[in-house]
Amino acid sequence: MKRFKMLIDGVATESISGRVATIKNPANQEPVAEVSFGGRVDAALALKAAERAFPGWAKIEPQRRGEILHRASDLVREKAEEIARLLTQEQGKPLRYARNEVLSSAEALDYYAEEGKRNFGEIVPSASKRSRSLVISQPLGVAAVISPWNYPVDLLAWKLAPALAAGCTVVAKPSSKAPLAATEFVMATEEAGLPPGVLNLVHGSGRDVGSELVENPISRKVSFTGETTTGKEIMEKASRHVKRLSLELGGHSPAIVCEDAKIEEAAEACMYRAFSNMGQICISVNRIYVHDAVAEEFADELVKMTKKLRIGGGLDPDVDLGPMFSEAQRQKTKDQIADALDKGATILCGGSEPEGEEFRRGFFFMPTVLDRMDHSMRMMREETFGPVAPMMSFSSNDEALRLANDSRYGLAAY
Ligand code: NAD
Repeated sequence: MKRFKMLIDGVATESISGRVATIKNPANQEPVAEVSFGGRVDAALALKAAERAFPGWAKIEPQRRGEILHRASDLVREKAEEIARLLTQEQGKPLRYARNEVLSSAEALDYYAEEGKRNFGEIVPSASKRSRSLVISQPLGVAAVISPWNYPVDLLAWKLAPALAAGCTVVAKPSSKAPLAATEFVMATEEAGLPPGVLNLVHGSGRDVGSELVENPISRKVSFTGETTTGKEIMEKASRHVKRLSLELGGHSPAIVCEDAKIEEAAEACMYRAFSNMGQICISVNRIYVHDAVAEEFADELVKMTKKLRIGGGLDPDVDLGPMFSEAQRQKTKDQIADALDKGATILCGGSEPEGEEFRRGFFFMPTVLDRMDHSMRMMREETFGPVAPMMSFSSNDEALRLANDSRYGLAAY
């Protein structure tokens, strides 16, 4: 079985402990590959390598850094099919969506290759004739980038590309549960001509590798996407060193369908955003509020479209939806559906695993439409991260806005 390594100081590296983890396909639980599984010591070595590489990289002109990032983008595009297949096998999403994710990651490299040249400063009017005040951007140092499993390549790319373009060096830690495609992406980026130590990659748990990247004083910036609870912990730890911090956390996005909506278009948009990536998107449609006057028509349309979605292993070119990422995600979805049904919701379609031998070993779940929801139900308040479209009706736009805003999250709205 292929072994995916880490990247420290320009060298593909095994973990110091020799530990490896096996990554399995969520569609059938077959092993896909092994990955070297690092710990705190590996993370500290990677941070030191990034610290050593920083002065040299920071000195290079943004134009030259941009050239390397454009070359990296070309290499990622050349390898897009290979990287996308790995992504489908480790994460579950259908191949065409995996391809889009990899191409979007290549775009991040191109985008920041250009943005690096426009890292302008400011001239601030001075209070004294004898002084001039300039605000200038300078590379900060080592950036730690930590990403989740739902878009493991894309979310890593949109963090490391700006850091590299700005002249920072990077230690990247993808999710330990979906690290393979991200590794291929990082290796291709390194191959484009980055000096050793500028981009490092460490695999391992959040508890060990993630904590080291946040707590070690070498990292001057932490960019994290993941669970809100993890983000809070990282914020608290990073504050002890007054580190720069970017957090992208959970969401619970409402969609409002007004009385004058074009029903077919609205239903299609809600279906797409509720079920893409099996609902495992931070900006998924999590709650649909529909005006009373069109609620029945909208529900019929949404159910009709949902029933046409094809489910299966992501490498099959005909499928629309793959498996969920893990049994834990599937169980959480089932628990929230059970809670909603207990409190008076009704199922219009889905609500269970699909039947058939081909689904037996994977974490498949039918896309589910629920009606008669209300805010006492967990699904209307907590992130589901599953393929569910829960509907609740309203009678005035003011009521719809009040319901949409009745949430402690604020990430997206439709
Ligand atoms: P997670 O928080 O469990 O893990 C995310 C990353 O953090 C992983 O690499 C993990 O190993 C690491 N980590 C875990 N504990 C850590 C710690 N104590 N210190 C440092 N690093 C640690 O999240 P997940 O389950 O991988 O991803 C799903 C979550 O991500 C969902 O809540 C979703 O809403 C969120 N998400 C948000 C966005 C956004 O843009 N807002 C995008 C995608 C996903």
